[in-house]
Amino acid sequence: MKKDNKNEDLLLGLNKKIDRRDFLNSSLLGAGSVLYSMSAPSTLFAQNDNISLPDQVGDNWYGYGGVGDSRYSHGNTPEILRGAHAVRDGLLSKSNIKNIPSSEEYDLVIVGGGLAGLGAAQRFTELYPGKKCLILENHPIFGGEAKRNEFNVNGHILTAPQGSNSFYYKTKNSDIKEDLKYIKMLNIPDEFTYGSMPNNKDNLVFAQEHYDVQMWGEELISKGYFVDKQSHGVDAQWVKDIWKDKLKRYPVSNKVRQDLLTWKYAKDMPQDNEETNAWLDSMTYKDYIENIMGLDEEVTKFADPVLASAGGMGCDVMSAYIAKLLGMYGLYPDAPVNPLNRHSFPGGNDGFARHFVKLLIPNSINGGNNFEDIMNGSINFGNLDRQGNPVRLRVSSNVINVAHSSNSRTLDSVYVTYYKDKKLKKIKSKAVVMASGGWINKHIVEDLPVEHKKAYDQFNHAPMLVANVALTNWRFLEKLGITAYQWKGGFGFHTNIRKPMHVGKYQPDLDPNKPITLTFYVSFEKTNQGLSAQQQSRIGQYEMLGKTYMQYEREIRQQMVKLFGGSGFDPKNDIAGIILNRWGHAYVTPTPGFFYSPDGGPGYSQIIKNQPFGRISFGHSELRGYQHWGPAAEEGSRAVDQLVDFI
Ligand SMILES: Cc1cc2nc3c(=O)[nH]c(=O)nc-3n(C[C@H](O)[C@H](O)[C@H](O)COP(=O)(O)OP(=O)(O)OC[C@H]3O[C@@H](n4cnc5c(N)ncnc54)[C@H](O)[C@@H]3O)c2cc1C
Repeated sequence: MKKDNKNEDLLLGLNKKIDRRDFLNSSLLGAGSVLYSMSAPSTLFAQNDNISLPDQVGDNWYGYGGVGDSRYSHGNTPEILRGAHAVRDGLLSKSNIKNIPSSEEYDLVIVGGGLAGLGAAQRFTELYPGKKCLILENHPIFGGEAKRNEFNVNGHILTAPQGSNSFYYKTKNSDIKEDLKYIKMLNIPDEFTYGSMPNNKDNLVFAQEHYDVQMWGEELISKGYFVDKQSHGVDAQWVKDIWKDKLKRYPVSNKVRQDLLTWKYAKDMPQDNEETNAWLDSMTYKDYIENIMGLDEEVTKFADPVLASAGGMGCDVMSAYIAKLLGMYGLYPDAPVNPLNRHSFPGGNDGFARHFVKLLIPNSINGGNNFEDIMNGSINFGNLDRQGNPVRLRVSSNVINVAHSSNSRTLDSVYVTYYKDKKLKKIKSKAVVMASGGWINKHIVEDLPVEHKKAYDQFNHAPMLVANVALTNWRFLEKLGITAYQWKGGFGFHTNIRKPMHVGKYQPDLDPNKPITLTFYVSFEKTNQGLSAQQQSRIGQYEMLGKTYMQYEREIRQQMVKLFGGSGFDPKNDIAGIILNRWGHAYVTPTPGFFYSPDGGPGYSQIIKNQPFGRISFGHSELRGYQHWGPAAEEGSRAVDQLVDFI
């Protein structure tokens, strides 16, 4: 048995030196063991200095981070797991916090340096020139879910998104008004340049990003579905352009075929008004597909991974109204969309985060104040948190407590305590915006009113794993004559070659003989087992956080061999590096009642959004249900507006 494993490891290239395990001292030893562990809630800390939080994962968990500024921050870091879970488990004693003197004062403290926090800071500078604001971010770099990975493959620098990927621009129906507002404010160009494939004899069409091609715009891209005995009861093969001849070659029963077509090309949409939206929010998308549209449950299963990839969970728990906001078929009249209207910066939506930071702190990114330099310049970490700047951004600072200074709440100020460099520090502020997610806010805001607590308790967050795989070449993909790949079962469900945006000196090739990256979005829904969204997410979080880097590396290699082995994929030589980005709370998963309460009152997200708690307001993307970069920034901005009486 052991010998077989060894042979498989050799064939999969697990013994090869690639950009992944030079940091791993135990190499294969960790495979098979579950490393994620909960801390003992009884531990309390008696001191404020030199605090060591218990490890939750082993050395062979995090894995390779690539090159560039984000190399130490890909997905949730071991440090974040340590800090956030210590807060959740009550390891940092409240009485301890009370005795820490405050060392600084600000007009506003923003907790969280993702797009919501950056949007809040931008609004602050607009409203209060001359006043002082501090952003506290617990990762080593700003951006939240909108960060990049960078690889150096044989001298070629390749950039890929860690999570948040793409944006609409100049589309007829899909433009989002907040996106347009910030695109203008940040001075993002009107047109983008993309690399093209030399000698494209098969006229391959590439998507410019990773989402529309999963469903909405797939007909306009060279896409194939992998089917085999396990998934469809047929010999393994790629079926290209499945919709072109109305699914004739796609191996499903006539009934399912017909129902898939009815679903995809549905024209009869529910009206777009409050009453209908509230009705949609009273049921799951599965209810809508199977009971309202009257379609086969295989249609629901077809939709599951796409919905989960964009929203965290599958059709059996997600509200039909969030399915509508995410553009799912039968609810949204805009398909097929033109995938050429959706763009992705080299590092995904980290491009927006970088533009915000450059606007707020002009010398934060080396180079000039233009698109190319903002996208390609290295981050000047020393300038992020400089005394005298109206906006300061402090990274690796994990906020553990936010408390009003007195019971009168609105009269005085707020204390913010955070953990950095093994020490607890306290700051006094006139007001605070919580631009961190609901899963942590409910633990760190002291004396949170019962109504807020109850509302936050109904939020559920799903995990996502975003794996970026750098390839030395993609001749085996060219051979298939497709550029986007979908399958059922195994690791992930979709990946595609992203046509690279060219920005200044960043000009990667789109040549089968040259390196590229593939991005796999992996969700963890456990559909149709009668499990709630909460149960599915907890199981998923344990699964995602519980595997070693090497276990995932093996799964990725095995999946790629299964999909691409027939066209010449060689795992030993074709893979140049793998980066895992694990997001424990990637998406809020709006279940029925998120937007509209069944009793006619506000949905649970509205309670948090509409009601600041004294001098503390809440602004993060989950409050919209539909998580998107521009609305995230706007939520932060709205939260600053709510504090006008205090700053
Ligand atoms: C896999 C994935 C793909 C996506 N794709 C797209 C896309 O293609 N297009 C799009 O528009 N949107 C996309 N989104 C959604 C979009 O990324 C989010 O809506 C948006 O970036 C979230 O911004 P935010 O500031 O609300 O949250 P976050 O980005 O999560 O930022 C919150 C920040 O607060 C920090 N924080 C949390 N707790 C603390 C604490 N205690 N102390 C200090 N800091 C703390 C977090 O570490 C984080 O950096 C995607 C999301 C995911 C997960």
